Amino acid sequence: MIVAIDGPAGSGKSTVSKILAGRLGFTYVDTGAIYRAVTLKIIQSGLDLDDEQGICEAAEKVKIEFCENNGNRRVLLDGVDVTDEIRTPDVTNKICHVSDRAAVRQKLIQVQKDCANGVNAVVEGRDIGTVIFPDAEKKFFLSADIEERAKRRFAEVVKKDASIELAKIQEDIKRRDHKDSTREAAPLAMSDDAIFIDTTNLPIEEVVNTICKKLE
Ligand code: C5P
Repeated sequence: MIVAIDGPAGSGKSTVSKILAGRLGFTYVDTGAIYRAVTLKIIQSGLDLDDEQGICEAAEKVKIEFCENNGNRRVLLDGVDVTDEIRTPDVTNKICHVSDRAAVRQKLIQVQKDCANGVNAVVEGRDIGTVIFPDAEKKFFLSADIEERAKRRFAEVVKKDASIELAKIQEDIKRRDHKDSTREAAPLAMSDDAIFIDTTNLPIEEVVNTICKKLE
């Protein structure tokens, strides 16, 4: 069984998906981490961000794995733990060079499908219900007001960078939302058969409970 959870940055989908997967005993697949890991690979290998052919080849060759270490989920890129590195602003700012390209996305479809191959999974991303798993048994689309999403992201980022400003985070999220929703290839979109949940005023546990009820 595949549960697809899509939505914009800060909608709560990662936290919700992790808790939900734990509760259901399903595998949790974070497809954003795949896009982030490929972007890191491009940066590390010094590839030109406009070199579509090179990016496609790199996307085809990289080995991305998810594993568990002392209860913490880790992301491995070609065998190296990059869990923290893929969350840096540099990676986030350059992701569009990977995620905007139809040819690169095409290469990553199978990588994402393989992560949920033969298992029950909660898969989160931007195009899971529309492109990656259009036949998913249940689909959800989470969103929240931009101010609330920025506040959530700020609370995470400020722990690592005390100088960060809320307004800057809100601007970054807006820009990323716009890019994700307007790109030609597999834009961020709600599938017609997805259930919409506005998480602005809902505690995480309540979002998870709502989804569990729908799954029953
Ligand atoms: O979910 P997260 O914020 O980690 O995703 C980072 C970026 O990866 C998104 O802004 C989007 O550009 C890209 N992405 C995507 N399709 C997915 C998952 C993520 O294009 N399924």
